[in-house]
Amino acid sequence: MTPEEKVGQMLQLDARDDLADHVLRRHAGSILHTSPERVVAAHELTDRTRLRIPLLVAEDAIHGHSFFEGATIFPTQLGMAATWDPELVERTSRVTAVEASATGIHWTFSPVLCIARDLRWGRVNETFGEDPHLIGELASASVRGYQGAGLGDPTAILAAAKHFAGYSETQGGRDASEADLSARKLRAWHLPPFERVAREGCATFMLGYQTIDGVPITVNDWLLSDVLRGEWGYTGTLVTDWDNVGRMVWEQRVQPDITAAATAAVRAGNDMVMNTPRFFDGALAAIEEGRLASADLDDAVRHILTLKFELGLFEDRRRPAPDRIEAVVGAPEHTAVNLDVARRSLVLLRNDGTLPLPAGEAAAARRIAVVGPLADDAQTQLGDWAGNSGQAGWIPAGHPRHLITTVLDGLREQVPQDWSVTHARGAEILELTPDPEGDTFPDGQPRPPVVTSAPVDRAQLDEAVAAARDADYVVAVVGDRIELVGEGRSTATLELLGGQNALLEAVAATGTPLIVVLVASKPQVLPPVVEDAAGLVWAANPGMLGGRAVAELLLGAIEPAGRLPISFARHAGQQPTYYNQVRGQHGDRYADLTQQPAYAFGEGMSYTTVEYTGLHLAESRVRPHGAVRARVTLRNTGSRPALETVQAYVSDLVTSASWADQELKAFRQVTVEPGEETTVDLELAAAECSIVDAAGLRIVEPGDFELRVGRSSKAEDQLRATFTIAD
Ligand code: BGC
Repeated sequence: MTPEEKVGQMLQLDARDDLADHVLRRHAGSILHTSPERVVAAHELTDRTRLRIPLLVAEDAIHGHSFFEGATIFPTQLGMAATWDPELVERTSRVTAVEASATGIHWTFSPVLCIARDLRWGRVNETFGEDPHLIGELASASVRGYQGAGLGDPTAILAAAKHFAGYSETQGGRDASEADLSARKLRAWHLPPFERVAREGCATFMLGYQTIDGVPITVNDWLLSDVLRGEWGYTGTLVTDWDNVGRMVWEQRVQPDITAAATAAVRAGNDMVMNTPRFFDGALAAIEEGRLASADLDDAVRHILTLKFELGLFEDRRRPAPDRIEAVVGAPEHTAVNLDVARRSLVLLRNDGTLPLPAGEAAAARRIAVVGPLADDAQTQLGDWAGNSGQAGWIPAGHPRHLITTVLDGLREQVPQDWSVTHARGAEILELTPDPEGDTFPDGQPRPPVVTSAPVDRAQLDEAVAAARDADYVVAVVGDRIELVGEGRSTATLELLGGQNALLEAVAATGTPLIVVLVASKPQVLPPVVEDAAGLVWAANPGMLGGRAVAELLLGAIEPAGRLPISFARHAGQQPTYYNQVRGQHGDRYADLTQQPAYAFGEGMSYTTVEYTGLHLAESRVRPHGAVRARVTLRNTGSRPALETVQAYVSDLVTSASWADQELKAFRQVTVEPGEETTVDLELAAAECSIVDAAGLRIVEPGDFELRVGRSSKAEDQLRATFTIAD
């Protein structure tokens, strides 16, 4: 290969730009963000190149093949995390792989393994929440689902573990700000999920945007060479995030020019360079000037070509296949998985006994007023990275409306025939104005508009109040919108914007029982009136069938089973609110506010009560290479079945370096029928009871530990038993 051909293999370019230039002049090895028509055109161009090396076609198919019209759109990753069900998550990724591969996609930039930290960060919705163990379980399942039976399987797509590593450790929630992280903190909490999927064969890793201790991840030798390639023995392919190489010049200003940046990126071991077209000239100039040898590109090119061979692209480009598209995109069996995951993603956070609504055969007819700006907002319900959320321009109107069930649709379809459903919007959320700084950033990317909270609209509010007065129940669907979510769209507050708090207060004041359905990308700070509401359900962004799932839940056709993968704050000023914080601060509250979250990690109610008793350890003394085995008894004391998520946390009572008071180490889901008593066995390796010591080594320190088992991370929900790890 010529130097031009090698540098070109390392380039992943935006298919919405000049494809002919990408393929014929720059010899691009990969494209992303392609419409189905442009994939076909791109392969035809490749056929005209000297070596005819097939293109790798990549897309952000992250909660479904979300930019393909009519594909199955699942709840966002955070919504899926609320299922606490790796097997279900694996099924969703398999569906995505089957649909995406039929359309000519070879590679998805998913899953996200970042640990949610500051809730103001715009990308919290893309995470599996705040706990490294839960993230590791779900991410591993997701990678298995995407990569299927192996890359040779024509329905397999490459997974990408992103964003390696520490990207979520923002300052003030500001996207891609310097991550103030020590190597120890990385090893303690951020790296374990990545290590797991690296060892399990996740084919690619995407490198985060941010700097740590002054060094952009793209050139972080310690992280890339010592840890990932060295300690973990990772042989997969590394892709930068969007223009990471260019950003070192124009944004972070740690490289004087593109030639220096390209040299540094190659030396640090990057394989594929996402959307830095100038890398082509920069790397060639570096070779010309003797800063790089052509052979310095060989490792990267070998990694990329290996992927193409493993996918079998030299024999079969895996072009879009119209008959497979017809058969699999949005197929009924995929819709069934979607309904399953939407149902399981719902988290019931409050219920004064009003729920489920009495929809049984003998029940009297009821009137439901459905209010709120998100009650019938189909595209918002899908969340970020879907349809017209902004990243791909080819479905400007979003996904076909008839494929999406909003909460209003769901209730209209699901209520008994003699019930009535009325609707009033009640409030707006936000208004948009152009950013006074201009339409674009220095790199030409569009600047998001400035969001201001919409004023209360009296007439709209009165209409909703009248509807609530005339009803037996009011269902208020509130939350956030895409303009408040995503990259570069972190929020300063976590409050419900616009007229939403006024709406909740006004409809609550009617005295009609109020059920709040929060369709929100991430935890929001809810107004005090919600504490007196009859019910509260968090539906994250629940995907295409979310509205149906919500209606079924409210009407008691299904049981609530979701559990929070992330804590809800009471106030933005409490950030961060994740449960597994390091011990040792003075006191445990602010002078003016508790530090307790509004709803804690692991919480979620059922329509029944399940009692935990008799936590019992098989042995109270365990060897470092042994296992901690425990049994707990669950009894369903109510009248409806429960799908209970039994959570096991470990607390290392004395540690040589400060550590989290407790960490989730295992969980199991069990169904408990009304009146039934069942025992649940839990097992975790003593090796899991580790800390990262002051020298940065992960070790198990012999001594006393506490096993805490219960329905959530809250002390009052847990039973405790002490054990000792000793030789
Ligand atoms: C995001 C990645 C995404 C990539 C390609 C970046 O801006 O940070 O998560 O995969 O764009 O769309």
